[in-house]
Amino acid sequence: MRTLVNLDGSLVAPAEARVSVFDRGFLYGDSVYEVIRTYGGRPFEREAHLARLAHSAARIGLSPRWDAQRTAAEIDRTLAAARGADAPEPDAAPWNAGERYVRVVMTRGAGEIGLDPALAVDPLAIVIVQPLVGPPARAYADGIPAAVVGVRRASPQAVDPSAKTGAHLTHVLAVREARAAGALEALLLDDAGFVTEGSSSNVFAVAGGRLLTPPIASGILEGVTRAVVLRLARAEGVPVEEVPLRPEDLERADELFITSTVREILPVTRLGDSPVGAGRPGPLTHHLHQAFRRLAGGPVGLRVRR
Ligand code: PMP
Repeated sequence: MRTLVNLDGSLVAPAEARVSVFDRGFLYGDSVYEVIRTYGGRPFEREAHLARLAHSAARIGLSPRWDAQRTAAEIDRTLAAARGADAPEPDAAPWNAGERYVRVVMTRGAGEIGLDPALAVDPLAIVIVQPLVGPPARAYADGIPAAVVGVRRASPQAVDPSAKTGAHLTHVLAVREARAAGALEALLLDDAGFVTEGSSSNVFAVAGGRLLTPPIASGILEGVTRAVVLRLARAEGVPVEEVPLRPEDLERADELFITSTVREILPVTRLGDSPVGAGRPGPLTHHLHQAFRRLAGGPVGLRVRR
């Protein structure tokens, strides 16, 4: 399939998917969005994503062009129009083959230049559907390097971390710093030095058989995958603690992993310059990922090309 864009209800090719330079999403990051993925062609945890989109919009006082029902219908329509075969991806994790990445963006719209939100006249609704490109199978087998970066998460008083908005410069700079250090995900601290989350993921540690993750109150996005993982862990009888974590807690952890819609549960086997635990994906990470795979459907195991 090709990338397909739904622009305010019109299905267009990427080259025709143009928005005004006066759109506030472009000028100020004055927008909210969601990333949803499919399993078996169907959006996973759709209701949770649409509820978070509504939450994000309410937190910044944005009235989206479409309500949740219309958004769900437009996602389905765009997915149906985007059906078709994909080029084979030999390194892909097997459960991602033929699946779709769905990005829903709602901007406050265009208007006279100026910060006052009342200047916005025409809210814009966009759905982008692409072939899903997840981490390669090898990333699940070997784990990935992450780094605690110097870029700090903006204070929750200044930027509401529970709203998924288009204002992402902090995360862009965090990723820039992580990449320069050879890491694939940036972990951000708050002003007091506590661990918050990844640039586009939530973070979990395993210590002494317990699963630890920063609480929502620590100023993080309430990840849809995070909620699924907590649910699965509790159902499996794993002791779970939502507690503030320091970078030292991550350094001392037996296992680390990050979670996100596109990455599911991805082991982190290096933190900065040091291996995490034994430097291999750990048993609880593996166990939870298998449980996640069974829930989402599709292949549970990995075939890794060496
Ligand atoms: N935190 C941030 C800052 C993110 O951008 C994301 C990705 N949406 C996540 C966490 C993970 O959220 P989810 O599991 O809903 O994809």
